[in-house]
Amino acid sequence: MFLIDCYPDYEENCMTIWLDNKRCILKKEEFTPVFYVKALKREDKLVQYLENIPFVTYIYENRWISLRKKAPVIKVILSKYNIREIASEIDRMGGYELYELFNVDISFPQRYFFEKNVFPMMKVADDSPFAVEYDTPDLKELLFTITVDSKRIPSCSDPLTCITITLKSEEDSFKLTGTEEEILIDFVKTIKIVDPDIIYSCGGDEFVFPYLFYRAELYGISLELGREPGWFKKEGKSYFSYGRIVYKPPQYLLKGRMHIDTKSSFLFKEGGLDGLIELSRMSRLPVQRLSRLSPGTAISSMQLYEAYRRKVLIPWRKQTPEQFKTALQLLKADRGGHILEPKIGVHEHVGEVDFSSLYPNIISEFNISPETVLCPCCPDSQKRVPVLNYNICEKKRGFIPDVVKPVIVKKALYKGNPELKGRRTLLKWILVTCFGYLGYRNARFGRIECHESVTAFAREIFLESMHTAEEQGFEVLHGIIDSLWLKKKVPRKEFECLCDMISEKIGIPLELEGMYSWIVFLPSNLGIGALNQYYGVIDGELKARGIELRRRDQPIIVKKMQEDILQTLAQACTKRTFFKKIPDTLEVVRQYVQAVSKGDVNLEDLVISVGMSRTLKDYKVNNLTVAALKKLKKEGVELYPGQVVRYIIRNWKSRKMADRVSIPELMENSVYDREKYTELLIRAAHHMLSPFIDEKRLKEYITCRKQLTLREYL
Ligand SMILES: [Zn+2]
Repeated sequence: MFLIDCYPDYEENCMTIWLDNKRCILKKEEFTPVFYVKALKREDKLVQYLENIPFVTYIYENRWISLRKKAPVIKVILSKYNIREIASEIDRMGGYELYELFNVDISFPQRYFFEKNVFPMMKVADDSPFAVEYDTPDLKELLFTITVDSKRIPSCSDPLTCITITLKSEEDSFKLTGTEEEILIDFVKTIKIVDPDIIYSCGGDEFVFPYLFYRAELYGISLELGREPGWFKKEGKSYFSYGRIVYKPPQYLLKGRMHIDTKSSFLFKEGGLDGLIELSRMSRLPVQRLSRLSPGTAISSMQLYEAYRRKVLIPWRKQTPEQFKTALQLLKADRGGHILEPKIGVHEHVGEVDFSSLYPNIISEFNISPETVLCPCCPDSQKRVPVLNYNICEKKRGFIPDVVKPVIVKKALYKGNPELKGRRTLLKWILVTCFGYLGYRNARFGRIECHESVTAFAREIFLESMHTAEEQGFEVLHGIIDSLWLKKKVPRKEFECLCDMISEKIGIPLELEGMYSWIVFLPSNLGIGALNQYYGVIDGELKARGIELRRRDQPIIVKKMQEDILQTLAQACTKRTFFKKIPDTLEVVRQYVQAVSKGDVNLEDLVISVGMSRTLKDYKVNNLTVAALKKLKKEGVELYPGQVVRYIIRNWKSRKMADRVSIPELMENSVYDREKYTELLIRAAHHMLSPFIDEKRLKEYITCRKQLTLREYL
């Protein structure tokens, strides 16, 4: 038997537990939530308030209120499921300074899983979240898509014409047709008869379910698709995170059944159901909810569980949790750290070596945690942070290292098995985001000194690895955080030996990512090497970073051209043959430019997708995005910050805003700005070829059909 999921029943004030024993069992279970309050002053006022609430009892306890401090607190026990309401009231009463609250913003499923020491997708009685080989329940999966009768952008006023249902196990698909009313009734019936455990939609949260609800209401049909009536619904919202607006679509969650939106779930796209199950087991967040969360929330849940396990109370974090930065984002934000500017141009005999999960490994190896760095118990510790000289605890193992270690170990154990790629990918995401947590002000257990310590260790490791490589006769071409690009005309084996030598010295594994037949490092606008902008052929495969084809806001045609340039260059397997291929790449550029000026292009290839940073009325300049938004608004379509707007440049210089862009979904005529698209193509081509030819000559060559000899541009 498996424990699949659990969720609160707000009417009965109990939990619904979803078990699976070859068939679904939903059972109700009593479960009493609690939270804690520490009164800094006026405890009498708090006690009086609690006395007057009929469904509340309380007791005095002595608990860890941080990783370092124990204190007397009041444990508030509720027989009604309205923690938030009571906690907010106490918070307000205290004017935000009399009372400190703990264990408030933890979801009901988390509370249940933490307190019972169980986890979702667990084989009941005999399973561990750390297991590498485990059984998974046999879940029945159903996928559906809808067809809407709309010539333009589908909206709630357009009728539904068809629902297509695919059963995953049988690869069988069928269509529900007829009148709209019949389709909707049949849909509800079909779900009941097929009785799937998981319903996959494409865009269910953002459009499909809000739309179906609207249409069903017109006929008085109740859209019940769960095994229990009712939905968990949440409104969509935009929020600010690290200087970027993020749009969080609404949520439509089922009871006793899962709804996974394959279009909006980042974790599902990265890891599939298998990856989600792995992460659900590790983080103790139910699959349906987890599929809508970020990797940062998953690592956060692991931390909360670790706190529960250590009987440490969790401070209430009232702000919206932010997304977490990756190491590269942090590095860019700090504008410092460990970088070696790349040597611009093309190189051969190059190997790329990476420390796998450097930051999490540092945390685990060097025991970096809020309570171990600068601990009061070991001021004379032999364990010191380089340069900063902070002491690190010698007596106890830290809280954060205990959270990251199992993830590192599991990810390593899954390596090399293609069937477990989904699991490995999601664990990788956890490790990428976990570092941002340590020093972050908003993180519950974050502390700036931990953050500083990790970067100090990283810098030392980076420099030491570089020196060892140089001592062994390797030239260091480029280095960034946890990766080095090394050059030496020796066989692969010698690169591997160097990795072993450095791994041994540092205590963290350094691995050879691969050998490049050739690699090109690109300059930034300032003429010095740009961080992480390169392309090359590594072990026979193309690899490109930081050029347009990796960016979303470029038209598809630019990406296609760059792909073709790369494919042309990929035929070269040495630096010498690389140069011989350059004239062929110019020919590729010319073909694209000619196609654009002749009008011989697919309109979809000209679409530019831009993430919106604000609402239409908050844009101060009249750029192309604004022009597109205005057009959409005329059509009754309003987009939220963080959503993506798609347009084609129609006449860039036009005085009339409406003429500057066209919206692909509106099927306007096929006019587009040939001059502007030519410019975009040439600029992108030049970006890739800038170490070899200047922009003016590239343009001359492309537009004048002038033949250049090899010698001319080198
Ligand atoms: Zn200590």
